[in-house]
Amino acid sequence: MENYCLKNGRILDPATQLDAYADLRIRGGRIAEMGTELSPETGETLIDCTGCWIAPGLVDIHVHLREPGQSHKETLQTGGAAAVAGGFTSVCCMPNTDPPLDNPTLVWEIRARAERESPCKVYVVAALTQGMRGEIPCDYHALKQAGAIACSDDAFPVQSAEVMRRAMLGCAAYELPVVTHCEDKTLSEGASMHAGAVSALLGLKGAPASAETVQIARNALLAQETGCHLHIQHLSTAMGVELVRFFKAQGARISCEVAPHHLLLTDAACAEFDTDAKMNPPLRSETDRLALAQGVQQGVIDCIATDHAPHAPFEKAQPFPAAPFGIVGLETALGCVLLWNSLLAQPLTPLQIVDLLSTTPARLMRLPAGTLAVGAPADVVVIDPNLRWTVEPTRMHSKSKNTPFKGWELRGKARYTFVNGVLVHAAQ
Ligand SMILES: [Zn+2]
Ligand SMILES: [Zn+2]
Repeated sequence: MENYCLKNGRILDPATQLDAYADLRIRGGRIAEMGTELSPETGETLIDCTGCWIAPGLVDIHVHLREPGQSHKETLQTGGAAAVAGGFTSVCCMPNTDPPLDNPTLVWEIRARAERESPCKVYVVAALTQGMRGEIPCDYHALKQAGAIACSDDAFPVQSAEVMRRAMLGCAAYELPVVTHCEDKTLSEGASMHAGAVSALLGLKGAPASAETVQIARNALLAQETGCHLHIQHLSTAMGVELVRFFKAQGARISCEVAPHHLLLTDAACAEFDTDAKMNPPLRSETDRLALAQGVQQGVIDCIATDHAPHAPFEKAQPFPAAPFGIVGLETALGCVLLWNSLLAQPLTPLQIVDLLSTTPARLMRLPAGTLAVGAPADVVVIDPNLRWTVEPTRMHSKSKNTPFKGWELRGKARYTFVNGVLVHAAQ
């Protein structure tokens, strides 16, 4: 195993609030030493990190790796390659596969396969209900024993409040976070984008903001009553931010994430019927977008997650209403977030950015990640925060190329990514 000495970087470790120019030694797969003026020892590879951040590997708690069953969209290997290219060292994969990850055997299988096939660490979010049909809660004890870190029906949100309440009670008993995509299907049925001026102009059916907020309120009320940890996925509405703020103030165990695309884009991106701008929840209004930014700045929104959702070109080539929801995000997330941050009147600090993308998401899902502590496994990313680069989908590692950021000039990129001290990505 190779050892490394990372020199002259800006070390950012939100776990200890450390922001300092220093060097980092990686030895035997672990973080061995941190300090100024470290000199490479015999056999160590020197990496000059001048102008770069040295941060704990990024953690994406919301990705779709599509295995088993949909390997034409993505695999554990290609999804993992996309992750490390984007600076991510740990990801949490969602259970809406074919078949869904609703039993311990499948959870074991994906974990074991990911260990062999994926260059990044993969944690499994199991289903919340059997077959993700929203009717019968899963066996949470068995799922937890098999190594699931949370439960979610993501794209198939539980519609019955009674079932959700029972699922929360069950998950609370085994300390499993309940991770929810909040959508009242009676309000969003048949919609392919946000309901607003753009959908009216295009003649497309839209989903109102209330399709999200009605379920945020319901789930938060149930979480408060059952005591379970509720994590809300991909918040997309201004009122959603206010609801999370309210329930946090009430003392509910509630956390939430926002996706980079909801921070940068609005429903105007759908104007040319570009199916790469079709995702669920949909891109919303400028008012919503600005409220999400404020939610991040005020700490109401806890972390950033991509909802990396690969789809093959032939699937996205369908007419807008028929095309599947979702975009890839692992390789553009960092560049999008740093671009977005550079446009803010009061940008977040580098430490805050790393916290949003690594330390806090790791803490929320209780993953052994998000820290540069000496002795910890060396999951490390070296980021060039100022590098401007153009998104070329054909150069992506992901099997799918469905991104609305094609041709965009983003800001910031992972130069080197280490997982357990192994260099798994080095930018050209
Ligand atoms: Zn979702
Ligand atoms: Zn998702």
